[in-house]
Amino acid sequence: MSNFGQINPPPRLLMGPGPINADPRVLRAMSAQLIGQYDPAMTSYMNETMALYREVFCTANQWTLLIDGTSRAGIEALLFSALCPGDKVLIPVFGRFGLLLSEIAQRAGAEVHTIEVPWGEVFKPEQIEEALQRVRPKVLAVVQGDTSTTMLQPLEELGALCRKYDALFYTDVTASIGGNFLKTDEWGLDAVSAGLQKCLAGPSGSSPITVSDRYVEVVRRRRHVEAGLVTSAHQAGIEPAIRSNYFDIPMILDYWGEERLNHHTEATSMLYCARECARLLVDEGMDNAIARHQLHGDAMLAGVQGLNLRPFGDLKHKMNNVVGVYIPEAVQGDAVRSSLLNDFGIEIGTSFGPLHGKIWRIGTMGYNARKDAVLTTLAALEQVLRLAGHQCDASGGVAAAMAVYKAAAEA
Ligand SMILES: *Cc1c(COP(=O)(O)O)cnc(C)c1O
Repeated sequence: MSNFGQINPPPRLLMGPGPINADPRVLRAMSAQLIGQYDPAMTSYMNETMALYREVFCTANQWTLLIDGTSRAGIEALLFSALCPGDKVLIPVFGRFGLLLSEIAQRAGAEVHTIEVPWGEVFKPEQIEEALQRVRPKVLAVVQGDTSTTMLQPLEELGALCRKYDALFYTDVTASIGGNFLKTDEWGLDAVSAGLQKCLAGPSGSSPITVSDRYVEVVRRRRHVEAGLVTSAHQAGIEPAIRSNYFDIPMILDYWGEERLNHHTEATSMLYCARECARLLVDEGMDNAIARHQLHGDAMLAGVQGLNLRPFGDLKHKMNNVVGVYIPEAVQGDAVRSSLLNDFGIEIGTSFGPLHGKIWRIGTMGYNARKDAVLTTLAALEQVLRLAGHQCDASGGVAAAMAVYKAAAEA
């Protein structure tokens, strides 16, 4: 006897910065039976997954596939494969996930150069150009949407700068993809990684990526160097082997490509799940999905303002799918969050680093970018805030959100 019961999680409405509730169709896809990794049905699903994610990333890149693992698996695979020890990387940091990129690049042995802006702001292209010119990095690595601050870094102009200074252009879009525009090819991106647990309406555990031919050419120079030969290969002028077997992009491409060279065993249930996440988005239409995130994000923003709460950061650069709100002086942040969770079954997010104890983060993403989820959250938040002594108009949150929906319906 195990003495443990079945897994039976409490019902929750997840309105934090991710993970969020999965779309029920994604959960159903995940529960489908397993098949062999070279079964024609499986290899077809892999190819279909590649085709679907080309739409999601807005790219014609052949190499658009999944890295098995959570979002940081995609980050680690792309950075470890591109960065040889001693290579320079430039990382503009505007929140916690920029710090994560620096940490991973450091572990790859790269020479890491960072520039920073205060949390709640984003970089201007001139600031990044100045650093590119000064550092001359092999890779520019920047987060698109940093959930720690809710800010969305504009990327449109950076691709041309990366070409001018001969750098590869990498971005982490885990938090932003599906809810904000991303034009991989148009913006000149060489490598992009994502995750399922934000606007893609799935669980964490699979990291979709896409890479350009330029990126593939650079990392293929490091292929097929056997671990035991690293030193002599280096002496012969060949680039040293990628410091990871699991995250060796050239080997992973050979597994997803026509050669089907065995690398890992593709995580079958996660592939079903990632395929369904992308299928749902593509069927909705990427532009429609982004418009949906914008609408419900705008309603939530208006709603918290209607509750007499002050939003955090530069709102011109806020992601559609998450809002930061200052915790009012009079209330205890963690007590409000636990009352929302325990009395109403609703989770909202705390925050990290310099923002810890200062703001909550409220998400409207993926399956939860819905009117009922927004209104329920605002109604419950009002009750909890009132009980904690916060002053606001009765129904001020719900009314403000309703006004956004009404205006959108009439537009
Ligand atoms: C949420 C988030 C992640 C999550 O990484 P995991 O490894 O899946 O936990 C990564 N990057 C960004 C920008 C995020 O917002």
